Amino acid sequence: GEYGPERHGRVIAHFGRSLDVRPSEGGPLHRCHLRSNLEPLVTGDRVIWRAANDGSGVVVARGERDSVLERPDARGQLKPVAANIDQILIVFAVEPAPHANLIDRYLVAAEATGIAPVLVLNKTDLLPEGGGELMTLLGQYQALGYPVVTTTTAEEHGLDALRARLAGRTSVFVGQSGVGKSSLIDRLLPDETLRIGALSEDSRKGTHTTTTARLYAFDNDDSEAGELIDSPGIREFGLTHLDAQQVTEGFVEFRDLLGHCRFRDCRHQQEPGCALLEAVERGEIRAARFASYRRILDSLEDEGR
Ligand code: GDP
Ligand code: ZN
Repeated sequence: GEYGPERHGRVIAHFGRSLDVRPSEGGPLHRCHLRSNLEPLVTGDRVIWRAANDGSGVVVARGERDSVLERPDARGQLKPVAANIDQILIVFAVEPAPHANLIDRYLVAAEATGIAPVLVLNKTDLLPEGGGELMTLLGQYQALGYPVVTTTTAEEHGLDALRARLAGRTSVFVGQSGVGKSSLIDRLLPDETLRIGALSEDSRKGTHTTTTARLYAFDNDDSEAGELIDSPGIREFGLTHLDAQQVTEGFVEFRDLLGHCRFRDCRHQQEPGCALLEAVERGEIRAARFASYRRILDSLEDEGR
């Protein structure tokens, strides 16, 4: 074929082995095919590609992935769905309020990916006077080192802080249904047509569970632009496929204590000399977090993992 020189780019959407590539130096997207010797790519992948004269092109190599978000397919096999994500925005809301260990489950899942989590409390317009329990809870996560943003789309409060958080990074939004993810993304990406175009492309694929992700870039007035990778599947990201060790390591305040229990194979249940239990006793690990930990482990055992 008549292809130009090798260039850098990023996959912003894909449909089977057909890839929409954004040139690194800017300019229009190119619908490329994937050279036959290459493994399938995902949205967010960095690529080397070559343009054809007619606006199409060919992807000839994939760059290293800094991070990968995976989901199990119909057979339960983990499949990458997006790559090179810098942060996972875990959205929860005043209404519906998160149940006891929901936030911990999301944090553990995020920690297992190696992608930095950020907590976003939406619908702050519904907070009681003085902030209530949720604001106290949020403070406790902040104390663990997690960045926290509070937003409401009802009064457009906190959206600037959210934009600042997104600037210069590639993010995904996750969280249970009804917390306001669509509403937030609508405010961040006012270009309706862009999103509708993405949806019709997704629906071409047929089933709802396999809709592919799309990368959106949005302007941030004068500061650095941010990027968002979004799909229904990504929004449903959760605590699938984790093992007990990943759960234990997903609690950041445990990490320095692991390996300091009296017994090497300590299960942190009631063993004497358990460093975690002693830290709970001393109040260095919050009892509610430790209870979450136990409950998450129990749920894995129920699922036979
Ligand atoms: P998603 O399922 O996470 O995408 O949630 P949606 O964006 O669809 O929002 C669910 C409902 O919450 C809708 O009725 C929204 O209008 C409403 N909602 C979203 N953000 C806010 C907010 O900041 N405050 C209030 N009071 N309602 C909101
Ligand atoms: Zn222990």
